[in-house]
Amino acid sequence: MNTATSKSLFARAGRVLPGGVNSPVRAFRSVGLDPRFIVSGNGSRLTDADGNVFIDYVSSWGPMLFGHNHPAVREAVERTVRDGLGFGAPSPLEVDMAELATRLTGIDVIRMVNSGTEAVMGAIRVARGFTKRNKVVKFAGCYHGHSDMMLVKAGSGLLTGGVPDSAGVPPGVTADTLTARYNDADSVEALFKENPDAIAAVIVEPVAANMGVVPPKDGFLQALRDISQRHGALLIFDEVITGFRLAPGGAQEYFGIRADLVTYGKIIGGGMPVGAYGGRRDIMEMVAPLGPVYQAGTLSGNPVAMTAGLAQLSMIDRDRDVYARIDRAAARLADGLAAAARSAGAAVTVSRVGSLLTAFFLPAPAVDYESAVNSDTTAYAAYFAGMLDRGIYLAPSQFEAMFVSAAHSDEDIDATVNAAKEALAGISHA
Ligand SMILES: *Cc1c(COP(=O)(O)O)cnc(C)c1O
Repeated sequence: MNTATSKSLFARAGRVLPGGVNSPVRAFRSVGLDPRFIVSGNGSRLTDADGNVFIDYVSSWGPMLFGHNHPAVREAVERTVRDGLGFGAPSPLEVDMAELATRLTGIDVIRMVNSGTEAVMGAIRVARGFTKRNKVVKFAGCYHGHSDMMLVKAGSGLLTGGVPDSAGVPPGVTADTLTARYNDADSVEALFKENPDAIAAVIVEPVAANMGVVPPKDGFLQALRDISQRHGALLIFDEVITGFRLAPGGAQEYFGIRADLVTYGKIIGGGMPVGAYGGRRDIMEMVAPLGPVYQAGTLSGNPVAMTAGLAQLSMIDRDRDVYARIDRAAARLADGLAAAARSAGAAVTVSRVGSLLTAFFLPAPAVDYESAVNSDTTAYAAYFAGMLDRGIYLAPSQFEAMFVSAAHSDEDIDATVNAAKEALAGISHA
């Protein structure tokens, strides 16, 4: 496979961008390779700068629910762009977006921002303002964006890098961030006992997807709902990945549990930089200009970004069966990968919830951060390289999800499974 153009782009990038990238995982460091520079995406396929074509399971880290460059989204954006790129004033598209997003998710009120990180920052500030408490409980291995207060035992890039925290975060900023164990409600109860009347919120990824996909055990989310309510704290679902992916109403609908506040990102922007947070009306009335919790954004609700998100959410609204289709495709993939691992004699465990899955190089399913980090990341790196050589673009880290989209055909899935058989056979004796 020719990679000369990507190699020369990476050399140029390395001189002017930290590590040659604008977000760390893209640098391929944890798989020991150089990244491919992508020039176009269509349906389930990505094309790199050397003309190599891949079946893609990163899906721009989740947003591309209907595949890359869907004509309905692209054409809506092209029409909006003709009217100007932004006004810094209310536009009708924001109203359409907020009406549709609240109807699909069942939340009362929503505020648009520009990223998942911002959405989480806003939700936590509102929770603190509403409860007049300062502490926040998060779970080891859950990622909630790169704000200072959330960079405590965060997953994803940090997990991959083996760095538990980030330099540059003053200890005072994380002093109010308490860490519990995923799938262990007792660890949450214990934190409430140790910190009476001090915890504003429990924030959780309802399906953990930033330490690889780790499903919530039966009863875990309900226990969080009950514990937080009993102690006067808010429950925040970080649905930046699960929102609009597990169901139109995200994990709240999928598991039948209502959070007090919810954060969105990724899919809600249809590929553009959009995040959002929202929830109960009485809580969201804390937000400026109605209430005392300040939060603002020069480009928030940008018309082009709203158009892309709105076009994609409208497709969901018209085509609710999309979830059955992508879940079926993901199940076919998960079963195929598990069979491929068995036939290669590789110790791989596939975790899946809906269209999110991870093939862990672990003999038993991961249930929390401590079990996930035991994965054989050296084997994952070899598997990743073998798959890339065979035209399959996976997340360049063991601790990320595969995102199946409506553009993945059965032929794509079967080609992926066949590639996995070969790639795993090549590393089973390593
Ligand atoms: C990606 C992600 C974020 C951060 O979103 P950005 O848009 O990258 O800032 C927050 N929470 C979860 C669960 C995520 O997966």
